[in-house]
Amino acid sequence: MSRSLAVLTSGGDAPGMNAGLRAIAKVGAARGLQVVGVRDGYDGLIDGRFEPLTRPGPGAKGWVVEDRVEEGAGRGGTWLGSARCARFREAEGRAQAAARIEGFAGLIVLGGDGSLTGAELLSKLTPTPVIGMPASIDNDIGCTALSIGVDTALNTIVEACDRISDTASSHHRAFIVEVMGRHSGYLAMASAITAGADGALLREQGRSEEQVVDALVSAIQGAFARGRKRVLLLKAEGVTIPCTRLVRLAEARLPGVEIRGTVLGHLVRGGAPSHMDRMIASRLGLAAVEAVLAGATGEMVAWQPTAAGGVRTGDPMVGRYPISRVLEESKALLDGSSAVTRWRVRMMEELEGVLGV
Ligand code: ADP
Repeated sequence: MSRSLAVLTSGGDAPGMNAGLRAIAKVGAARGLQVVGVRDGYDGLIDGRFEPLTRPGPGAKGWVVEDRVEEGAGRGGTWLGSARCARFREAEGRAQAAARIEGFAGLIVLGGDGSLTGAELLSKLTPTPVIGMPASIDNDIGCTALSIGVDTALNTIVEACDRISDTASSHHRAFIVEVMGRHSGYLAMASAITAGADGALLREQGRSEEQVVDALVSAIQGAFARGRKRVLLLKAEGVTIPCTRLVRLAEARLPGVEIRGTVLGHLVRGGAPSHMDRMIASRLGLAAVEAVLAGATGEMVAWQPTAAGGVRTGDPMVGRYPISRVLEESKALLDGSSAVTRWRVRMMEELEGVLGV
């Protein structure tokens, strides 16, 4: 009897999750596994809500991928559904989830930091291999240079900024564009560079409200003084002062300057995954199935062009790391103790001088 491989998507959805599901179904089928999806993340796992991603091939030989898996791969979100599951945070819920995958070839979890924390706890309760795949638009997961969804989110932000720049430059206005990232300013930082912004406001800069307004006012004054037709500033959601308040405070200090705020919000989460996100999801999916077949557990596959340490896979860009190490690094990314965060803040400081020139 052929064995089953289960896969679920959990936590905040990210474009590219569906491409990951397709990759796992294809690679699993090619390796002789029946692949089943779990509806609505850990909620569906506890309740045993499975959905076949493969069906028996012609002449009942091997497995082929279901049409809806292929059709869904180019769409954003996750067609399998995702959920925030309170029951899985309790030992009883996790024990029920572990019982559901007994005898399975493995379970692959696509999700963010919380989902990976859950996957690590689950891996300790079962002999069934549990492997994580990083999916989060915020790029706040340790040990991986990029997570699934980041590239699409950045493309959406840059396109929105280009559109805003068209209208802003026609009227010599300044715009503050707020993007998602409650804990991580990565999206604001990266898109400030590629959208040609005049500055970025990040939680990691650790500024008081007064300092944020000072930075905003001097960026706007400086840019117009240099003859810029428009001023564009990216603001991460983690800088909790609302855009409307920032606009009011800055306009009070800059008579005659028109400032507008735009919050992109959930727009940034949706949309068809970019080529890059589909490719990362596909290559991580391949490595995840291979990790399951190798009997690895409690590990996350990572996109890491300059990987140091970690278990190498057949793909030079993909390595495997213990989820416990991933979570330690994620924490360091968020509390500012990581070398990567310190580097990002340093780079932002250097960019302050460059963005507005
Ligand atoms: P994300 O995966 O995007 O970070 P969440 O933090 O909401 O999203 O986590 C998704 C789910 O993972 C939660 O609803 C919960 O079921 C599970 N999870 C998160 N943190 C833990 C934890 N510390 N222990 C057990 N399960 C957790």
